[in-house]
Amino acid sequence: MSSVTDYEAIAAKAAVELEEAPAQEVLRWAAETFGPRFCVTSSMEDAVVAHLASSVFPGVDVVFLDTGYHFAETIGTRDAVAAVMPVNVITLKPLQTVAEQDAQYGPNLHDRDNDLCCALRKVEPLNRGLAAYDAWATGLRRDESPSRANTPVVAWDAKRRKVKIAPIARWTQDDVDAYVAANGVLLNPLLWEGYTSIGCAPLSCTAKPGEGEEGRSGRWAGSGKTECGIHL
Ligand code: SF4
Repeated sequence: MSSVTDYEAIAAKAAVELEEAPAQEVLRWAAETFGPRFCVTSSMEDAVVAHLASSVFPGVDVVFLDTGYHFAETIGTRDAVAAVMPVNVITLKPLQTVAEQDAQYGPNLHDRDNDLCCALRKVEPLNRGLAAYDAWATGLRRDESPSRANTPVVAWDAKRRKVKIAPIARWTQDDVDAYVAANGVLLNPLLWEGYTSIGCAPLSCTAKPGEGEEGRSGRWAGSGKTECGIHL
């Protein structure tokens, strides 16, 4: 097994070599380099990266964060992915149920301190779950929002001391749509109801974007928050 120092150097080299590589080539490199110590994370907005990864690494672990606040459609998408795709879906849960969190912090923490709520229900569970891996892939894309415009294809995630991979970082929404259409990829049905970015169900966390607004504008709208903390 390579050391963490090796992986930092491996990430730096791959960041240069794979910047222009097709998504499947990036994922093939990840599977060959990290084997079962590599996983894909998915919000279950769509199964694009899970589909890409399973095409080069059947049985790949797909990690999903069940915050306890998801839309039923998101849980349904997760269950459909587990049922029909050659992947191993792993569901991570926060240390506290929503009821336990309400008892400690008061109800609807998402409306009063969304950073704390995300730290408890997203960041901590992911960090705990990723302890089993040396590398993880996400579906981040540069065209999603200004905060994601410089997303590297491969990077050293210094905070978690793991290699972080964004195989579709260079894709546009048109690229995603074309891949979905060509491969019959599972999508969260909320995408047909006007949602363009799907997170937790409270209105303060996920809303439909207004006319002409960018895709992630409905996330924590009006609060100044743009990311849950996982990708910061
Ligand atoms: S997105 Fe909202 S409900 Fe979900 S963890 Fe963050 S603040 Fe809490």
